Amino acid sequence: MPYVSKSSPRRKPKAKRTTRRKAPAPSVVLAALDLVKDYRTNGTATRALDGVSLDVPSGRFISVMGPSGSGKSTLLHLLGGLDGPTSGEVLLEGKPLSGLEDKEITLARRGSVGFVFQFFNLVPVLTVEENVALPRVIAGDRPDSYQARLDEVIAQVGLEDVTTKLPSQISGGQQQRTAIARAIFPSPAVILADEPTGNLDTRTGRQILELLKRLQVDLGQTIVIVTHDPRAAAYGDEVIYLEDGRIRSRIDLSKTRRSSARAGSPSRDGTKGGEARARAVLAWLQKLGA
Ligand code: ADP
Repeated sequence: MPYVSKSSPRRKPKAKRTTRRKAPAPSVVLAALDLVKDYRTNGTATRALDGVSLDVPSGRFISVMGPSGSGKSTLLHLLGGLDGPTSGEVLLEGKPLSGLEDKEITLARRGSVGFVFQFFNLVPVLTVEENVALPRVIAGDRPDSYQARLDEVIAQVGLEDVTTKLPSQISGGQQQRTAIARAIFPSPAVILADEPTGNLDTRTGRQILELLKRLQVDLGQTIVIVTHDPRAAAYGDEVIYLEDGRIRSRIDLSKTRRSSARAGSPSRDGTKGGEARARAVLAWLQKLGA
């Protein structure tokens, strides 16, 4: 038996104590701090938002749900600087929007926020590619100065075959793809989409959501959508439920997606895992009595 000195026992060397490094928190692209919004019409005040705080970390997809009139659109408009809060603050890439003049807010928004609306909001007399590159077209820039980016974005949304058509000559799904391409053209920090599938049939709507999901997964695009459709909401990593202008509840779906992916989901965008997430959202809404 080998001699083992008592004073120097053969023990496993103690692991060096290292301070455990925390994973760096993802940067917050957009933050709402205690937002209150009152509307006043004919002397009557309506409190549309009543103290909403929300962090939108980079690369995250957040869905906002809630009954009609609960403040979803108001929240999205405030997050995008389309309207200002009565009190509270919106931080866009760390910069507070309050105190800025309208012109400065427009500048802060430009390039940082891409909007997608239910009714596409395309310019009817411009072609698909002119709509996508709209600010550059308006600025009178030479097309060759932005053609490469335009081609890239057109390919990302799958509109290669209709670039020279007018909005009236393409389908609703293609119109929404055009609107999404327009939103991502300046490489915004965040896309804000208000009921992006509200004017589309179920199948086309799903294709649009899969496109948004792919932009998140492949390009790390940060996305916030407002929707009343639980299946659409389930594309998010997180769903928040607004009621009477407040966040009543939230559900984190990122783990649902991961566990489902381990179980053999074949799809990168989690479409199979999407079934599990949709079930989780439906069960959560049922629990809320929504
Ligand atoms: P949601 O998108 O959830 O349907 P909204 O944000 O559109 O809810 O509206 C929240 C509340 O604020 C509702 O009571 C609505 O009537 C009111 N509201 C929204 N916009 C305006 C406005 N421009 N003027 C007056 N009241 C408004």
